[in-house]
Amino acid sequence: GMPPSAPRVLADRRISRRLMVGRVPVGGDAPVSVQSMTTTLTSDVDATLQQIAQLAAAGCQIVRVAVPSQDDADALAVIARKSTLPVIADIHFQPKYVFAAIDAGCAAVRVNPGNIKKFDDKVGDIARAARDAGIPIRIGVNAGSLDERLLAKYGRATPEALVESALWECSLFEEHGFTDIKISVKHHSPLVMVAAYRQLAAACDYPLHLGVTEAGPLMQGTIKSASAFAILLAEGIGDTIRVSLSAPPVEEVKVGIGILESLGLRPHRLEIVSCPSCGRAQVDVYKLAEEVTAGLEGLPYPLRVAVMGCVVNGPGEAREADLGVASGNGKGQIFVQGEVIATVPESQIVETLIEEALKLAARLQLE
Ligand code: SF4
Repeated sequence: GMPPSAPRVLADRRISRRLMVGRVPVGGDAPVSVQSMTTTLTSDVDATLQQIAQLAAAGCQIVRVAVPSQDDADALAVIARKSTLPVIADIHFQPKYVFAAIDAGCAAVRVNPGNIKKFDDKVGDIARAARDAGIPIRIGVNAGSLDERLLAKYGRATPEALVESALWECSLFEEHGFTDIKISVKHHSPLVMVAAYRQLAAACDYPLHLGVTEAGPLMQGTIKSASAFAILLAEGIGDTIRVSLSAPPVEEVKVGIGILESLGLRPHRLEIVSCPSCGRAQVDVYKLAEEVTAGLEGLPYPLRVAVMGCVVNGPGEAREADLGVASGNGKGQIFVQGEVIATVPESQIVETLIEEALKLAARLQLE
């Protein structure tokens, strides 16, 4: 769980309206939720549902699916009914897919009314249909698809341009009395994105969906997203997050949850305190840390497990953690709740730690 001594670092949460995406509250004082997007063809119902199940197992709370064709729109009813997560339909231009998504029982729609207005002005009908169905709409402004008018006005996708675009999109729904809206203003630069969300947060009380768009592959995307989200969340800004990675969506969910855990915005599940190893290490710390992490993934009870390479910081960290190992001389001292309970050869460290972790988790769960 959260260390009781954790210092208070984050500002009070920005006051935002609360809305519901299916059963998941977003905004107000609801916990910051983690979402992702499927990469399957939405029309491939089985593959999409299978990926949604994987995302749910990883801890994802809301899932978005792309709806670029009629086949995809046709698949929504079964997906929305069978999905264990609330499904958001992501639609760019065609009002008919928006109506299909609402009829299909989707929990929300992501659609920018500016696009709809340009081709076939059904914004009022969409507002009415969403209100009748009781579902919210996300307006998603993205640097790569910024309105031409604003691009001309600002020269490029500046924070001001992103925010003006988002507020204008909102006004198109507000004209029809529809305010069940959440907003994103995404940019590939964490700094532009942070500036845009700050301005947007000050300018409205809609809940905000945080995202660094096109953040890149796993490592870079994780760093960009974590850096940007941490700044905003520390200021109380952000109600739901999506980490965008050029990597399987399950990775997006793991990273998103990890960011919230690191900031104390949700309790830790498994936390590994492992050292980077150095010239003093007497065991293979990387291998130990990786094997212990893999062996304990999905543990139903949150534990802090220390995996330390030598006796310099090892016993101290291992004693402070729920359990851990301090290694030395090809052997590991196994600590459980501050006490050394065994000293085992390196080859038995992982299995002993996992065994003790399961025992401890079961015991703590009963308490
Ligand atoms: Fe190096 Fe020991 Fe610290 Fe690990 S615990 S980084 S091996 S000094």
